[in-house]
Parts: sequence; structure tokens; C-alpha cells
Amino acid sequence: MSLKNVTRMYLSEDEIPRHWYNMRADMRQKPDPMLHPGTGRPVSAEDLGAVFCKELVRQELDADTRLVDIPEELLDFYKSTRPTPLIRARFLEKELDTPAEIYYKFEGNNTSGSHKLNSAAAQVYYAKKEGLKNLTTETGAGQWGTALAMACAFFKIGLTVYMVKVSSQQKPYRKAVIETFGANLIQSPSETTEIGKRILAENPGTGGSLGCAVSEALEAAMKTPSCRYVLGSVMDHVLLHQSIIGQECKTALDKYGIEPNIIIGCAGGGSNFGGLIAPFIGEKIKEKTSTRFITVEPASCPSLTRGRFAYDFGDTGKTTPLIKMYTLGSSYIPPTEHSGGLRYHGMNPTISKLFNDGYIEGRNVKQTDVFRAALQFAKIEGILPAPESSHAIWAAIDEALECKKRNEKKVILFSLSGTGSFDLAAYMSYMEGTMADSIPTDADLEKGFATLPVVSI
Ligand SMILES: *Cc1c(COP(=O)(O)O)cnc(C)c1O
Repeated sequence: MSLKNVTRMYLSEDEIPRHWYNMRADMRQKPDPMLHPGTGRPVSAEDLGAVFCKELVRQELDADTRLVDIPEELLDFYKSTRPTPLIRARFLEKELDTPAEIYYKFEGNNTSGSHKLNSAAAQVYYAKKEGLKNLTTETGAGQWGTALAMACAFFKIGLTVYMVKVSSQQKPYRKAVIETFGANLIQSPSETTEIGKRILAENPGTGGSLGCAVSEALEAAMKTPSCRYVLGSVMDHVLLHQSIIGQECKTALDKYGIEPNIIIGCAGGGSNFGGLIAPFIGEKIKEKTSTRFITVEPASCPSLTRGRFAYDFGDTGKTTPLIKMYTLGSSYIPPTEHSGGLRYHGMNPTISKLFNDGYIEGRNVKQTDVFRAALQFAKIEGILPAPESSHAIWAAIDEALECKKRNEKKVILFSLSGTGSFDLAAYMSYMEGTMADSIPTDADLEKGFATLPVVSI
């Protein structure tokens, strides 16, 4: 049997890459810098250092170093769940009767259930190294809060998670896992911060929002001694940590002599997609490959496919630096949607730049189509996918069927970023036929664009 005919591309512990891949180093034109909203000038390490750990700020601002060492102690932690499986979807290929080969990288085999643990562990490691005692963060869908709680338990550092109140009520088991790992979970908005009190006074009985939880977590980090704030996506340092996904894929595919033609990932803030493509996109920029790179987002929150490329705030409270990205406007509240992890108004600035420069493609899909693909995949491949990840499944199936039409033998690689074990309410809603699709009209989007800050540089 040739190496090419296996179902699982095995890597040993020793083959885990020792470096993260900073794809900004391969870009001819770098993403535009973040701006200080007060002065309109690029933010300095000092500005960012007030809320973020020093090493993470350094990584955020470094657009030139291609390979960044993964610290030894962190590699040891990674080994508890990595390398993650890279699997050929043979049964799905057969069912679709496609000449295409489909491979997926599965990041959901850890208790937190998603790729977010890769960056959570890195961020907590650096916080600990810096001598910090506490971290704060927000969580919406709950995957980030869970991953961070796991990492904080392991590296023994305190954590307060502001969880959007409606989410914590809808997903009581997410809340329970976060608390099991020892984190202090506060439903947001809360009485523990000034901003929370203000929001509660203005809107008694509100279920909260991600933007509000961000503002509370930021305020708490500033007020608590020896404490910083951490973020689970959007920032370039998060993409750097997630490049372990792409690095492992590249190592394994090279070992088995396989070259991908189409690389697909879902995109909320862009971290699993960015991590997946990191070691591959350089060849595209150098025009040495015709590989296609495809992001998939929900039709309800189409930042790349229908947004504007502009400077905008990262949060609803308009407290972050200005980021040049594809955005729907920081005040855009997407319709309720089961892929909570994809409900973000903006997009990572590097992914935004690559999209604007034509190196990557964007697609959007409505959630009933996503769940149809999720069920098809679950039944034949035996993994219950996260609704977020199922956006990538949908596109992989679509591309595989296109290959069938044209009788092309392409190699498709996609990121299966997590499991759907905590999303069964969404699966039930799909099966009962009560799931709705809500797609914003152009007029809905205009309202969000109208709130974009005016920036002159
Ligand atoms: C958070 C999340 C996403 C979206 O975030 P990105 O930063 O775009 O990767 C995708 N899939 C899963 C399973 C998630 O938890």
C-alpha cells in the first residue's frame, strides 16, 4: 500500500512543529497598523501593554519574523492533545461519488472541544512567565471561556470569565465546565463593573451581548492588580498560535506526498482559517501555486463577503484601538444564529488584507444549508461537528461536487475546528424544522456602516 492510501496521516509527538508560522512575513504589502482612537496614530507597544501581556504585544506588532519558537514548556502541554488527527474523508468521498480527495484536520478532540485551546495555552503561558496572577476575558458561545479555563487550571493562574448572560442560560453545561476548571464565571452585564451597572440601569433585564462582555472584561483587567485581558480571536498573535494547525498539516501532507489544491476554513474572527493557511499562503503570494484559499462565513454575519474594508473598533463599546479590517460596523448586531463563534462584526486584519488583495476567496452560507452538511458529515464520518466548523464542511462538499461535475481530481483540505457536543439544541432545532434563516438586507447593513468611525490618515 502506498503512503497515499491511508485514512489517518500519522505524526508522532516528535514531529510536532517547534515553530509557529507568522504569515505576515510572507506578505509583500503588510496589513495597515492599528490606530489609537484618540490620536489617530499607530498604537505603540506601550499603549497595548496596558491591557495585554508584554510578549503577546511583541508578537502582535512583529510582522517580519517568519518562524517563532514555541517554548518547550508549552510544547509539553500541546503534546497532551497534539498532534491532532488529519483524516481523509474516504466515506464522504464515496458517498459524494467525487474524484476529489477530501482531508480534514480535527481540532475538537480536547475537552474544550475546539482549536481555541492552542492560543489559550500560549497566552496563559506568557502571562504566567510575566508573573501575572489573574486574567479576564469574555465568552459568547463559550468555547473560548472553556479553553482558557482549562489552560488557566493547568498553568495555575486565576481567571474571571464574563459570559454573555443569555448564552450562559442557553448553555448551562458550558458554564459548568468553565466552573469545573476553576474559573470565576460572571454573567454579563453584571454589577461588578461600572459599565455593567450602567448598562443594567439603562436596560434592566437585558440578556447582554458580546460587546458588553468585552467592555466589562477590559474594565476588570484594568482595575485588578497583576491582571491582564486576553482575547480568543481576531488579533494577529492569536493567528500566530493557531498556525500550529497549518504547520502540522504541512508536515503530515509533505510526509505523505500530498499537495492540497483547495484549502477551506470557517471564519469568525479568522483564527482557525488563518492558522490553517499560514504555511501555505506564501507560495500563493509568490505566484508559485494555484492553490485556492476559501473562507466561509454565515450569511447572517457576512463581514468579508458583504462588509467594508475600513478602520473600525473591535468592540461594541468602542474602547479598542481602530483596526483596518472587513467590518459590518461595530454596532452591527447579527440576527440570532446558532454558530455563536462566527457572530463577530469584523475580521482579523491580515485575513482582511489578503482578501482585499485577492489571495483568498470568501463565501457565505445560510444556516439550514450548514446543518444539512453537518448531518451528512456526522452520519458518514462519525464526528458530530460544531456548527461553526460545518460552514467549512458545506464548502468542502460543494467543491467536491464541483470536481465531480468537471471530473477533476483535486485535493481538498479543510479545518474541522471543533465538536458540536454542546450545540445539540441547535441540532434539535434543525431536525424539528424550526430553524430559521435570517439574512440581513442591504438596508440593514447600511445601518452598521453608518456607524463606522471617520478616520483621516
Ligand atoms: C470560535 C470558533 C470558531 C471561529 O473563530 P475563528 O477565530 O474564526 O477560528 C470556529 N470554530 C469553532 C469550533 C470555534 O469555537
